[in-house]
Amino acid sequence: MSAFEALGLSAPLLQATADMGFEKPTEVQAKAIPLLLESETDLVALAQTGTGKTAAFGFPLIQKINVKSRNTQGLIIAPTRELCLQITHELRSYSQHVKGLHIVAVYGGASVQGQAKDLKNGAQIIVATPGRMKDLIGRGVAVIKNVEYCVLDEADEMLNMGFYEDIKEILSHTPNDKSTWLFSATMPKEVAAIAKKFMHDPQEITVGNKNSGAQRVDHEYYLISARDRYLALKRLADANPNIFSVVFCRTKRDTQKVAEMLIEDGYNAAALHGDLSQNQRDLVMKSFRTNQIQMLVATDVAARGIDVDDITHVINYQLPDEIETYTHRSGRTGRAGKSGISMVLVSKSEIRKIKAIEKIIQKEFKAKSLPTGMEICEIQLLHLAEKIEQTDVNAEIEPYVPAIMESLGAFDQETLIKKIFSVEFSRFFNYYKNAKELNVPEVGNVSAGGNSTRFFINVGAKDDFSWMTLKDFLKDILQIKDDGLFKVDVKGSFSFFNVEEPHVKRVLETFEDFTLDGRRIVVEATTEKRRKGGGKRFKDSGSKGKQPRTRKSDKRRGGKFNDDFSNKRGRKNRSGNKPKGTGGKRRRR
Ligand code: ADP
Ligand code: MG
Repeated sequence: MSAFEALGLSAPLLQATADMGFEKPTEVQAKAIPLLLESETDLVALAQTGTGKTAAFGFPLIQKINVKSRNTQGLIIAPTRELCLQITHELRSYSQHVKGLHIVAVYGGASVQGQAKDLKNGAQIIVATPGRMKDLIGRGVAVIKNVEYCVLDEADEMLNMGFYEDIKEILSHTPNDKSTWLFSATMPKEVAAIAKKFMHDPQEITVGNKNSGAQRVDHEYYLISARDRYLALKRLADANPNIFSVVFCRTKRDTQKVAEMLIEDGYNAAALHGDLSQNQRDLVMKSFRTNQIQMLVATDVAARGIDVDDITHVINYQLPDEIETYTHRSGRTGRAGKSGISMVLVSKSEIRKIKAIEKIIQKEFKAKSLPTGMEICEIQLLHLAEKIEQTDVNAEIEPYVPAIMESLGAFDQETLIKKIFSVEFSRFFNYYKNAKELNVPEVGNVSAGGNSTRFFINVGAKDDFSWMTLKDFLKDILQIKDDGLFKVDVKGSFSFFNVEEPHVKRVLETFEDFTLDGRRIVVEATTEKRRKGGGKRFKDSGSKGKQPRTRKSDKRRGGKFNDDFSNKRGRKNRSGNKPKGTGGKRRRR
């Protein structure tokens, strides 16, 4: 009896496991499959990316479908088109020996008519993204009132992406007595909340530590100065000539910018983000899958569902907004039994986040140094030697050999090798010979901005700012790049931030007369000079939103700045590469 047979799978499914070369079930499969086959139960299953969750719900679901009926009996909801297609593809492989089973994928970015037609032909299983599913229910094409099994795949991602209301609405069209199976890599409290709201007494399966990273991933961080981020990225790429990586940035804008710079610098790179059309994204993914792209620069949202198994490195160009997201990023590597490395470029002001991530992934980061220019030259040279050694002689060059021999035949072997290597070596050597040191010594990690001023601003969490969005907002308005603005602490109705000394004047000037959405924005220097200095005028605690009272601002008259935020961002877009501190040039008014 095969290991899969012992789980209770039927003959056609066993045949499929054999065809696909699955030798034994993964842990989540071993736990979920018998449970779901034997009973009608709700289930919450938590397991890392790459642990085979699709088969854990896919096999039992297929086995439970009555193929004699054309009613939709199973509904799988997944966050992205890519995942939706991937799940559909997997399920079709699992059910290749099951006759009469129709699985239809419905997702945005493709013709709705085609999908509607497929549904009308009868689909016992629908695999859907939330938006398109709602649409098709609304059109009366998707009928899910007889659904017996509903799977929420990558539930954490769906909630991250704001699909809660859509899911609620879709589920409201399904019968109450169906079984709901929720699969997720992490269990943030929002997922626990859906489990509570939509499920009855769910069984729970947890594989590994609830939130821990994939087993085969090593986590490394590189302490750098934020203004050297891009140079550091290049060095990581140069030090890993065979790199096949996803580089994560926080915003679409950075994603695009970094990809463009890499391409300009001669790397096989491309951007993947939500401003690209579906067509463009498909092309990028195709080139990535076929290894034509070595560095895929992506936003978190766009990278969801990247199902490429041999990614060697995940590079966190910037850390994610929500540190939980780090798990998803690093889970893109170390898949399918391979090992991977997740690298993080951190500036001093972010280093405390590393500790927070370590708690979540339950693993320690290695503090690493970027290789020096000369180390990179050596790596590249040896890489070239290896490549030459492994290259088979191409017979097609035969006709040209006499001419080549004529010009090179006189050199002895050693000279020839040296010359050939110099061609490649000089490129790197010339670039790196005067390269500066990028590593920042790690001393007590407090020193960010030894000379900085702390400011108070009268917007906060009540205005829907998080420290991250407020930081972006301020850096944008003040045109401060990199590390020049830091330690943003958002309280209820006010916040604090530090800027390095050269920017202080600009902060004061910019906010002298500033309204946003008709509201006066007040910014004032606090008396706190340093991160740990005493003598604070305003207490940083008090998230209740208590505002300091003494403010001259009330006397200032109304300014007329109510250009909206998104416009400002748009305008700034192109200025990406200007040197830091274009201070004198006022952009506004
Ligand atoms: P998850 O949804 O947990 O991220 P997937 O279901 O996408 O993981 O599976 C990851 C990969 O592992 C897929 O390529 C899948 O075909 C493969 N896989 C799944 N189960 C097994 C198994 N029992 N043996 C070998 N490979 C498997
Ligand atoms: Mg999955």
